[in-house]
Amino acid sequence: MGISCIYKYNPSFGESNTNRKIKSEEMNEEKEKRSLNFIESKIEEDIKNNKNNGEVYTRFPPEPNGYLHIGHAKSICLNFGLAEKYNGKCNLRFDDTNPEKEEEEYVKSITKDIKWLGFKWEKEPKYASDYFDQLYEWAEMLIRKSKAYVDELSAEDIARQKGTPTQAGENSPFRNRPVEENLKLFREMKEGKYQEGEMILRAKIDMASPNMHMRDPIMYRILNRPHHRTADKWHIYPMYDFTHGQSDYLEGITHSLCTLEFEVHRPLYDWFLDQITDTEYRPVQTEFARLNMSYTVMSKRKLLELVEKKMVSGWDDPRMPTISGLRRRGYTPESIRNFSDRIGVAKRDNVIDVALLEHSLREDLNKKAARVMAVLNPLKITISNYPEGKTEDIETINNPEDENMGTRTMPFSRELYIEQDDFMEDPPKKFFRLAPGREVRLKSAYIIKCEKVIKNKNGEAIELICSYDPDTKSGSGDMRKVKGTLHWVSAAHALDAEVRLYDRLFIHEDPAGQKDHDFKEFLNPDSLKILNKAKLEPSMKDVKAFDNLQFQRLGYFCVDPDTTEEKAVFNRTVPLRDTWGKKKN
Ligand code: ATP
Ligand code: MG
Repeated sequence: MGISCIYKYNPSFGESNTNRKIKSEEMNEEKEKRSLNFIESKIEEDIKNNKNNGEVYTRFPPEPNGYLHIGHAKSICLNFGLAEKYNGKCNLRFDDTNPEKEEEEYVKSITKDIKWLGFKWEKEPKYASDYFDQLYEWAEMLIRKSKAYVDELSAEDIARQKGTPTQAGENSPFRNRPVEENLKLFREMKEGKYQEGEMILRAKIDMASPNMHMRDPIMYRILNRPHHRTADKWHIYPMYDFTHGQSDYLEGITHSLCTLEFEVHRPLYDWFLDQITDTEYRPVQTEFARLNMSYTVMSKRKLLELVEKKMVSGWDDPRMPTISGLRRRGYTPESIRNFSDRIGVAKRDNVIDVALLEHSLREDLNKKAARVMAVLNPLKITISNYPEGKTEDIETINNPEDENMGTRTMPFSRELYIEQDDFMEDPPKKFFRLAPGREVRLKSAYIIKCEKVIKNKNGEAIELICSYDPDTKSGSGDMRKVKGTLHWVSAAHALDAEVRLYDRLFIHEDPAGQKDHDFKEFLNPDSLKILNKAKLEPSMKDVKAFDNLQFQRLGYFCVDPDTTEEKAVFNRTVPLRDTWGKKKN
């Protein structure tokens, strides 16, 4: 694939630069919003000319052989989004021309994911298999017009006779079989009289066409297998190329959008429609570049391999680029839709930096996620001058970005937990957190000073004895300032939790594109780290699966559906800042 440009989101040189970059990007986006993309321009032109009575009818046609991924999300946002924008309609059509056994699971997950993204399809979902009878009639019609024939060549012979892009193919010896014989054989194929591979139905077009897809393409093949919707009615199944254009036609689709690789199929779709109808109406196909994203793989076959080899916990593993994985990771539908708008549609293949997806997510969660305190790797501190047995309610705001989210109280007491990383016994100068003899503020509470370090046999700090300054309570007017502010939880009140720290699944930007290497060689060995001793502030006792929260100073986290009454499980969605951009620089 000729990848033309890499969309780099964030060559970050530090926070302020990053923010500047985002601002100018947003300004550009505002400009882009005012100009139309090439598909919208085409649609507006069609509406202006009252083509199809000014109607816009699109469709999203997934094959139910896997879970949807972020690339599909782009196509969904495009097709459903255009229908919304132009007051049109959009169908969900399952392209189920391949009989496969486990399709029901995929149909379910696909409908769930599209609904979750917030889109509605027109009426009931459609299935290509709904059109099998009609397609069969059209196939017989083509045979009668001498535009299709039953070929008994082996697959190898057919491949051999196909020629090359620069060399014409050869006609099959069966190409001029009489119509009646073709009809008889085709009907027998349908009845199940023959074995798979014994014969196929081919369109009779042009074995010398410069477009390989026009060299007598296959229309039907024998598959003596039941289908998830038509059971054992059929022994022959139409090829995608003999199904897709006609399905669009039957549904009255006006704008048939697909990815670039189908551009070369377009003349074939048009040819089939020219044979079967003389109406003026045609679904018009427009191609756009598929979404490729850095640090992941997007082929369903590769994703299935990761699932089957148990390299991830399932299609919805939070590291997967699937919509169900992103949901479990803590992505919101809005963040995915905003991302999709932001990347727009292109006519040439490109690679989008996954950091742009993460940026859209942070932007959305920054507005929505309540701030809470959670300590991932707890270090106990005892405040020696704080009365034993006393508990104080500390008031703190839920989201500085949104006053309407209000405030809550947190218990403060003599024994607390802070983060192990927030203490160093022998810190460098620029370490503004806790160290022997140094002071920090505990967020929304008091300034404390580390008086003494208690260590275990290995010399590791296991507890800090601190003092607090009772005159420094947050919000109590003029206060002295200290450089560092730490998050904390009260030991006696804290809830236990398991926290799963997820990182990118691959360490390589383009894991599937490395010559002589299997994509699995680039799996990130540190893509999941499980912490079992995390402590949460007690306000989190009623969280529900998929709730999004910001753990202060740490990142955005989301409640995993593995959560039980006994134990909360959290997934790290993203850290507060992009650390990969920094690592690379
Ligand atoms: P397969 O490799 O199995 O054919 P596919 O990714 O093409 O997989 P489909 O289920 O056929 O999967 O895709 C449904 C729709 O989503 C198609 O219209 C396809 O063009 C679109 N689509 C798939 N992948 C992407 C992508 N990465 N970017 C944009 N659109 C995509
Ligand atoms: Mg496909």
